[in-house]
Amino acid sequence: GEDTGALVDPHFHVLMMFTKIDKNRSLQEKFRVAMLSMVKHGDFLEEEVLVLHFVSDPASQELGQRMLQEVLLDATFQYEVVFHDVVDLTHKLFPIVEAMQKYFSAGSGAYYSDAIFFLSVAMHHIMPQNLTRIVQVDLDLKYRTNIRDLFQQFDHFPRGQSWASPERCSPSTAHIHTFWQYRKENPSTRVGEPPPDGLPGFNSGVILLDLRAMRASALYNRLLEPGNVAKLADQYRFRGHLGDQDFFSMIGMQHPELFYVLACGWNRQLCTWWREHGYREVFQLYYRCDGPIYIYHGNCNTAVPDD
Ligand code: UDP
Ligand code: MN
Repeated sequence: GEDTGALVDPHFHVLMMFTKIDKNRSLQEKFRVAMLSMVKHGDFLEEEVLVLHFVSDPASQELGQRMLQEVLLDATFQYEVVFHDVVDLTHKLFPIVEAMQKYFSAGSGAYYSDAIFFLSVAMHHIMPQNLTRIVQVDLDLKYRTNIRDLFQQFDHFPRGQSWASPERCSPSTAHIHTFWQYRKENPSTRVGEPPPDGLPGFNSGVILLDLRAMRASALYNRLLEPGNVAKLADQYRFRGHLGDQDFFSMIGMQHPELFYVLACGWNRQLCTWWREHGYREVFQLYYRCDGPIYIYHGNCNTAVPDD
């Protein structure tokens, strides 16, 4: 694009949720796989810096700092590590996302601590203004390519688009609690139908946030207002439990123009749970992903292939 300011900024910001990791051996192992593969394929120009942001608690931070010393040993690029206190961020987020929590959180909803699951929805208000682009990724990933290439996807965003993610590779949004009622009442809808013609919703394992575009979008910020959240959730009869993923899936149904859909290979979700739980017939329509795989996502504890 014409925005040379963003092109010359040598910082590449990546953010990961990193809480309660000290008590979770399995997530520690996934994190190791993710970081080692990121380092192995990571390749940046001499003046560039990969900035790794972690949203963490004190015990996880201590463990993370120790693990990072080891997994970053072979990095051939410059990096910085920034830890953000989960309590601080939650405190800033809660007033912005409180109204949506009751529609998109597990359980009864408005638990204060659940606000952090909506970080990507309101990160443009929480992070400093000079942070203009950030990629948020899960820990259960395995990189097969240079993470720098993922940032190049920002350049494909049409003007004004602010958020990108691959679509969800499972029928769960479409058929279970979330859009089930709406689809019953609107049998010819694209909502919840599989790609390429349907709107299956998004998976939040890999998301690109153009924070500057999010700040500038009057429409997006109107959609965050409590009254509008309620209106849309009622219209779609939406009840979810997956936080930001559900919110983005829902507004993506109403305003697909706000989103750029990444190729499925950028978040190759491997979870096959719904195939064994009532959706064998349609599963493959959602699950299939042709084309190169850049990042594996071992979601729902699925093993990631060795290659
Ligand atoms: N996470 C965390 N602590 C936890 C559980 C999850 O920090 O105790 C973060 C971590 O970044 C993880 C993300 O939340 O990758 C989403 O969880 P997970 O990947 O296990 O969910 P799935 O992709 O299977 O839905
Ligand atoms: Mn995951």
